Amino acid sequence: MGRLQLNDLTKVFELSEGQIVAVDELNIDIKDGEFLVLVGPSGCGKSTTLRCIAGLEQTTSGQIRLDDRDITHNKPKERDMAMVFQNYALYPHMTVRKNIGYGLKITTDLSKDEINQRVEETAELLEIEELLEKEPGDLSGGQQQRVALGRAIIREPEVFLMDEPLSNLDAKLRTTMRTEIQQLQQDMGISTIYVTHDQTEAMTMGDRIAILDGGELQQIGEPLECYHRPVNKFVAGFIGSPSMNFLSVRREGSMLDHEAFDYPIDNNTKAAIADASRELTMGIRPEHITLVDRDEDDAIPTTIKVTEPMGEITHVYFELGEETYTASVDGERHVKAGQEVGVIFPEEKIHIFDDKTGDAIK
Ligand code: ATP
Repeated sequence: MGRLQLNDLTKVFELSEGQIVAVDELNIDIKDGEFLVLVGPSGCGKSTTLRCIAGLEQTTSGQIRLDDRDITHNKPKERDMAMVFQNYALYPHMTVRKNIGYGLKITTDLSKDEINQRVEETAELLEIEELLEKEPGDLSGGQQQRVALGRAIIREPEVFLMDEPLSNLDAKLRTTMRTEIQQLQQDMGISTIYVTHDQTEAMTMGDRIAILDGGELQQIGEPLECYHRPVNKFVAGFIGSPSMNFLSVRREGSMLDHEAFDYPIDNNTKAAIADASRELTMGIRPEHITLVDRDEDDAIPTTIKVTEPMGEITHVYFELGEETYTASVDGERHVKAGQEVGVIFPEEKIHIFDDKTGDAIK
């Protein structure tokens, strides 16, 4: 069992210069065994949320429930949760064996032999048996992170809490460890809340992702749902890489007017935006833009400013009016700066947002 509910969770920091609402009436229901990623830009309240769940931070108002028990004011050790931190937080002068076993030693009545057996099973699971007699200072970042995971796993908690656990690792190791953590979590079936600022990590790891901004929940859903149907401009711009292009347009009958082109819309789009304000933002993801010959039907003429080959795809930067936008095209395609081209924004791929509120309309 490991159903975790956050009901109107709020954390306010009182400072001499005023208040900071770090977490603002957050409502999230994490299912038993679910892998939930909390994602958002720096300062959005991810770590504070996790620290409230762990009991490392006093909640200002709202409730935290674990399997229908109210644990809002329980001490950290009464919560049956294990946390993995970004900086690993290992004891520097203890061997890996002692680091992994320490939690069991202080919280259970298990004998030394029993603890040793559990440590060895855990080390085997993480493939770090040969490191057991070493100290953290002798290990690489990736090995230290495995030890930190071992320390969390051995306790078989109801909930894992992970705060940017991979951010000190190099890019390649990060990708490998992502898969390992996911695999481990699935095998153990333990509810997990994983904090990251990296949208790729969120998209690839989470059963669901919760996107925060300014302490407030913006959207919670499966990764592809957030990608295809962002509820507002913030989510649309945060999820996806490179970011969605935003173009200021004005509704004029059957057209969206942009400073550099007019975009005809069909009846579906027209109906969707009929009651909206006239000032709108059109959104189109770089990967949904088609690059064509300039004289092709419906093509918006432009000139390529810069190309950025990434291997499988190439990022192409082009200008419309005053702004620069991005398209992602097949890496095999021959494109170069200065080339005169046309761009097509397929209507089924465009998003439309209210300019003032940022809410998605279509
Ligand atoms: P990051 O990815 O940079 O760690 P975050 O999304 O985890 O960011 P938090 O660390 O939760 O964000 O911070 C949320 C807000 O609360 C920020 O404005 C931060 O400055 C503030 N804050 C966090 N901890 C404290 C504290 N102990 N005292 C005062 N303000 C704090």
